[in-house]
Amino acid sequence: MTSPVWHPYAHLKTQSPAPKVVGGEGASFFLENGERLLDATCSWWCMIHGYAHPRLVAAIREQAGELCHVMLGGLTHGPADKLARELVRVTPAGLNHVFYSDSGSVGMEVAMKMAVQFHQLRARPRKHRLLSLMKAYHGDTAGCMAVCDPEEGMHSLFAGYLPQHHFAPAPTAPFDAEPDAVAADLAALREVLERHHHEIAALLMEPLLQAAGGLNMTSPHYLRGARRLCDEFDVLLVFDEVATGFGRTGRMFAADHADVTPDIMVLSKGLTGGYLGHAATLATDRVHDAFVGDSPEHAFMHGPTFMGNPLACRVALESLAIFEGEDYLGKIAELSKVLNEALVDDAALTAHPEVADVRVLGATAVIEAHDATALKGVGDWAREQGVWLRPIGRWLYTMPAYITSHDEMRRITDVMKGWFLAR
Ligand SMILES: *Cc1c(COP(=O)(O)O)cnc(C)c1O
Repeated sequence: MTSPVWHPYAHLKTQSPAPKVVGGEGASFFLENGERLLDATCSWWCMIHGYAHPRLVAAIREQAGELCHVMLGGLTHGPADKLARELVRVTPAGLNHVFYSDSGSVGMEVAMKMAVQFHQLRARPRKHRLLSLMKAYHGDTAGCMAVCDPEEGMHSLFAGYLPQHHFAPAPTAPFDAEPDAVAADLAALREVLERHHHEIAALLMEPLLQAAGGLNMTSPHYLRGARRLCDEFDVLLVFDEVATGFGRTGRMFAADHADVTPDIMVLSKGLTGGYLGHAATLATDRVHDAFVGDSPEHAFMHGPTFMGNPLACRVALESLAIFEGEDYLGKIAELSKVLNEALVDDAALTAHPEVADVRVLGATAVIEAHDATALKGVGDWAREQGVWLRPIGRWLYTMPAYITSHDEMRRITDVMKGWFLAR
């Protein structure tokens, strides 16, 4: 009998049977049939320490012996309190309040509700829509789908079901663009704000790296410009750092490249090192203090059952201690160097007729093809060489675990390049 497990994003008629994973170690996982696959994606970008990290496993074991779960409604516990303090310490200055939830999508739902209610409480009830960017991806729940790219995403299928929001063009200036080169992107953003700011509660963005929507990278100047525009038009700035948080772009947070503090920031994926599902939505004093008041409307009406789960908080604390104690930003800089040398500096690759662009930011690299058909079969081909690659559309990318060795990183880039140059 085929398995009753219903796989995500899978075409049920054409999907091939999913290989069964029985374990892992370092940057690789092992299959039941003895295959060992080097994971170029660190499991949808969350397993930043790789598999079976002894300190993370021990932290979960220890916490399991003390307290696996307790509700956060009316109660608190050590790991939730300690992690919140640590997140306030490491995130951009001014983000002083932490609301927990159980996944990146729900963390974004919390951010959006918080932004709308913030304006309600300030007697600006017309500000109840959101402004998002083309190529955005913010999650798969209904509220999040409504702020994902309306052409690439699932908008047409669910058109009658989703609330209507506003969209600005995706930024086009690259990461290293001069301020002048970002002016057109910011002018496009300003135009939408000028027209619709009366009804916009918040501008949402994946800062510097629009990940699932095509690994679109942009400049820190764009973040600074967006911050100024939000202040000018009384719109909150929400950074979705679910993918970029914890080192992916080369700094602890993408916001750090620009020295910008958003009003609200969402963390998930790397938060627990991928070992348990969890998320944190951080807010500034200004946002938080608007919720301090006497009326029933002042309560923030959200509370996922598993928010602040002790196991998740404890492993997140251990993940952060390893990240800081073992100089992960140094490791990420080294990986970035390898990715640049192996991919961006390879003239044969960048000149290949099927290749539209090759770019790297921190521990993220992508070979963008002109057409998705150019990548058909690349996953199976990579697997024959012991590497797990899973392209998104026409984007062949790697977001490796930060403990990936130089040799392993080279094996991954050899396979990515080899698909175009050595097949
Ligand atoms: C993955 C992702 C999400 C959704 O997180 P889930 O944990 O899958 O719900 C939201 N925003 C960004 C930028 C993401 O990469």
